[in-house]
Amino acid sequence: MLQAPISKSEEDKIFMQRCLQLAYHAVDTAAPNPMVGAVVVHQGKIIGEGWHRKAGQPHAEPNAIRSVKNQSLLKESTLYVSLEPCSHYGKTPPCADLIIEKGIPRVVIGCEDPFPEVSGRGIRKLQEAGIEVVVGVEREACLQLNRAFITYHLQHRPYITLKWAQTADSKIDRIREPQESALQISDHYTAMMVHKLRHESDAILVGRNTVYMDNPSLSIRHWPSENKPLRILFDRNNQLSAQAKIFDGSQASLIFTEQASKQEENNEWIQAYTWPEIMEILYRKGIQRLLVEGGRKIHQSLIDSNLWDEIQIETAPFEIGDGIDAPQLHLTEKKDDFIIVQKQAGSSDRQICHIVRKIYK
Ligand SMILES: [Zn+2]
Repeated sequence: MLQAPISKSEEDKIFMQRCLQLAYHAVDTAAPNPMVGAVVVHQGKIIGEGWHRKAGQPHAEPNAIRSVKNQSLLKESTLYVSLEPCSHYGKTPPCADLIIEKGIPRVVIGCEDPFPEVSGRGIRKLQEAGIEVVVGVEREACLQLNRAFITYHLQHRPYITLKWAQTADSKIDRIREPQESALQISDHYTAMMVHKLRHESDAILVGRNTVYMDNPSLSIRHWPSENKPLRILFDRNNQLSAQAKIFDGSQASLIFTEQASKQEENNEWIQAYTWPEIMEILYRKGIQRLLVEGGRKIHQSLIDSNLWDEIQIETAPFEIGDGIDAPQLHLTEKKDDFIIVQKQAGSSDRQICHIVRKIYK
């Protein structure tokens, strides 16, 4: 059966979506750089693909351009890239120069560079060389992909994801003693998804009570990963047992305290206790993505301080009656400022509510 040909703009969208898929390959390696994907298309066919793997290595555009076997086709091709090509010398030469040198006649860009100082420079350089440049194809998705990178640089703090699991009657735990086991709300599937979330984070924050009650290791076990996120906790008076798993040295830990700062192997105590101080320290340490795993007090405090970018709430189908209340959300901003997705978690009977604050307006 003959299909109607798709329009040029539809085609641009499809190839930009492929750039986003490619970019995401570097979800655990790109930081501190943004994730970027690129494809080279000749007469409706992809002839080259690339993405940026990690800092110091080539950007997405040279990777895609060099993967093209017949380089003479570049002069009749379109290059798609999810982020504006760079125009300055960094660890690698400017991608805009390479595109010009290869004689690529058309470039489709997902979003402008988010840094006001350089935004638009790469685009201008290409246009001045006579290249047809299209900007803003799947712009929102391209910006959202690098929402942690953009938030970190523009707001000088980590991108903050809050995550908790609750019962159908909005309890996050039963009221219990430390030796009693925690209420099991997640199932195998959703526990695995939590480890995937850890894999995509630079640091995990928990409160003192969570360490005291549950003694978590905050390692990544149920998702393939080389990542060892920094473990962050509060211990105002250094009262936690030195035997707690969080101090075992298997991953670096950072403890915010009101006592003196000190360093013991890869456990570091820093005297700081307010959110502005803490955000400043995490920014200086290069933490772009902070995952907050509780407990209730920490979550509520961050919500009340409006210090969050994303919230994932898992809800189990059962009720427990008495228990510890889940954090209270109050979305006072316009509904349009968020992307809210409510869905069933894979084959699990758990519901996931995913709230993401849009970084574009
Ligand atoms: Zn570049």
